[in-house]
Amino acid sequence: MEDYSIKLYAMTCGWVTMPYGFFFAGKSGGYLAVPIQSYYIEHPKGTVLFDTGLETNLQSEDPEDVKQALGAYASLISVQYHAHEDIKSRLEAFGVDPAKINYVINSHLHFDHCGGNVSIPNARIIVQKREWQAAKNEENIEKQIYYPKLYDLGHDRLEIEGEHDLFGDGGVVLFPSYGHTPGHQSLKIKLEGKEVVLTGDACYLKKALETMTLPDALVVNDAENMKKSFELFKKLQSRGAKIIFGHDPEQSLTLTDGPIKQVTLRELI
Ligand SMILES: [Zn+2]
Repeated sequence: MEDYSIKLYAMTCGWVTMPYGFFFAGKSGGYLAVPIQSYYIEHPKGTVLFDTGLETNLQSEDPEDVKQALGAYASLISVQYHAHEDIKSRLEAFGVDPAKINYVINSHLHFDHCGGNVSIPNARIIVQKREWQAAKNEENIEKQIYYPKLYDLGHDRLEIEGEHDLFGDGGVVLFPSYGHTPGHQSLKIKLEGKEVVLTGDACYLKKALETMTLPDALVVNDAENMKKSFELFKKLQSRGAKIIFGHDPEQSLTLTDGPIKQVTLRELI
């Protein structure tokens, strides 16, 4: 197929502030505000979202609601998330009907990546089988690593194992990047003849990949696998792929400062 027919759009659906040490193992002191990124992809054979951001309860002005929604993380994380910044509002403001989205790819099922699944009612959810299993594990739910109310909503669901070429033409290809969670996945897109990689939380920040520094153990499920994912991103980068990081504040501002904007390769250089 002609790969120029794939369009990629980025949007920022709020920000969260977390201790700096979350992002770099061994570092402490201070906080870092990071964007919650979602992506909308138009392919001739269907429309796709990559991650859906935070639940709208986190937009509440009542701190108790926010505390409830953040659960175990409430003391560590603060949220900057306002009305109309959720994925549904972003899509509608752009003229896209959330009910008509065909696929939702969840990189993984943490609260900041699937909180908007509820707003995309007719999409088929695509998730790694091992992520779904981890997210259904009672112990993980009890520890508030996963919140089933955000993703266990009866959507049509495709559980995949490993790489998956969504439209069968190499244009939108999911691949495993385990480590942050047991079944984390990332996405390759052919854009303007070049490969673009959405890492999701397999690599939060540009600087993390440059320095090959993993995040704090608190947010790493499997350090060996996470390191392997970093090495894979390096390899893809060295063969010309453009890497879009999971929560990089500086890079996100080159893509969008909020509402949906089309991503062209120019923005990624
Ligand atoms: Zn995240």
